[in-house]
Amino acid sequence: MPLKRRESGLKAVLVIGDGMADRPVKELDWKTPLEAAHKPSLNQIAKTGISGIMDPVSPGLPPGSDTATLALLGYDALKVYSGRGAFEAIGSGIEVLPGDVAFRCNFATVNKNLVVLDRRAGRIANKDASKLAESIQKIKLEKLLDSEFLFKNTIQHRAVLIIRKPGLSIAVSDFDPGNVGEKVSDVKPLENTSEAKLTAKIVNELMQEFHKNLKEHPVNKERVKCGLPPANMILCRGAGTVPNIKPLSQMYGISTACIGATPLVRGVCKAAGMKLIDVKGATGTPQTDFMAKTKATIQALKTHDFVFLHVKAPDVASHDGNIKQKVELIEKIDRMLGYLLGNIDVDSTYLAVTADHTTSLVTRSHEGDPVPIAITGPYIRRDDVEEFNERKCAKGGLNRIKSMDLMYILMNLLGKTKKFGA
Ligand SMILES: [Zn+2]
Repeated sequence: MPLKRRESGLKAVLVIGDGMADRPVKELDWKTPLEAAHKPSLNQIAKTGISGIMDPVSPGLPPGSDTATLALLGYDALKVYSGRGAFEAIGSGIEVLPGDVAFRCNFATVNKNLVVLDRRAGRIANKDASKLAESIQKIKLEKLLDSEFLFKNTIQHRAVLIIRKPGLSIAVSDFDPGNVGEKVSDVKPLENTSEAKLTAKIVNELMQEFHKNLKEHPVNKERVKCGLPPANMILCRGAGTVPNIKPLSQMYGISTACIGATPLVRGVCKAAGMKLIDVKGATGTPQTDFMAKTKATIQALKTHDFVFLHVKAPDVASHDGNIKQKVELIEKIDRMLGYLLGNIDVDSTYLAVTADHTTSLVTRSHEGDPVPIAITGPYIRRDDVEEFNERKCAKGGLNRIKSMDLMYILMNLLGKTKKFGA
């Protein structure tokens, strides 16, 4: 009996180690963290599967986690990307309507000359950030040109701001200067349009109002008393709006779920129509509950055709330049994969693992290098690659593809793609 393509019952899990790929590191004897880590399960996937390397968006282009995730879900990020802010907001459970302009924000510390001293206000705890966010949301807006705003903190120093009013634009610069030691920069219109000018004006007024509210706030007075940096400024950046993309369910006729704690990635997945599954203990930090996420993935596979499991931790370690931690986190991801391999039905499930992009421990930034990819599963064409890392996967049967191709490859394995031509 032939396998009925569209009712194959086949499923797929895609595991993403955020920023897991890297360049050679001197302290690791010029190995990459993936090469240095003990990772039997990652190797098992490579050994029993097909490997390759993938350019996240385009060769040499360092992508953000948002554009990289869009690509991993099969979208052409260069065409559909509409700014980071909206994804961050959607992923935080805030409804973003068409026309709303959303910004990513940080609680930050500035001195009296508005020079940034700490872009994360000492990685402020959620408890303090929540109190400050509530206070900001209560600010009255008579002066603010009849616009409505929503402000919500997400994880630690991160927050989102939505401005709602007809006739806004995302063509505005950032208020966040991006570097410590620089003064906050007034938001400027990036186009000569009344919409961009109006948006810039509203954001500048809001930032001033927020600053006034925060600098006198009791939470900040208490923080100073305890020797903590006050969160006395909101730095906003990345104006965005909801992207116009077709949900995965419509494109492939599949049910999909996302397991990940990072608001940005959750936002991209939500915009792709995926079900967001909340996992207790999943934090988007190196301290996340790896096993809880793994178990939730196995559970989600029972009711979904495609599960996207995202682990933010290796990216955090890379941005901190923490070599030892990055290697350890890769080893933790390896244990997650070991558990997955032992607990999914390998006769009907494809398991793919990759990184959304390279985050270099040396530059502490996202880089444009390709990332390793390996897929194992029931009908996979095995190649000779036996280890999962940047160098070995480059010799694999997938050769060099783009992240955008991966979803189509997986959907073809699941029998969900349609024939092109007669
Ligand atoms: Zn990322």
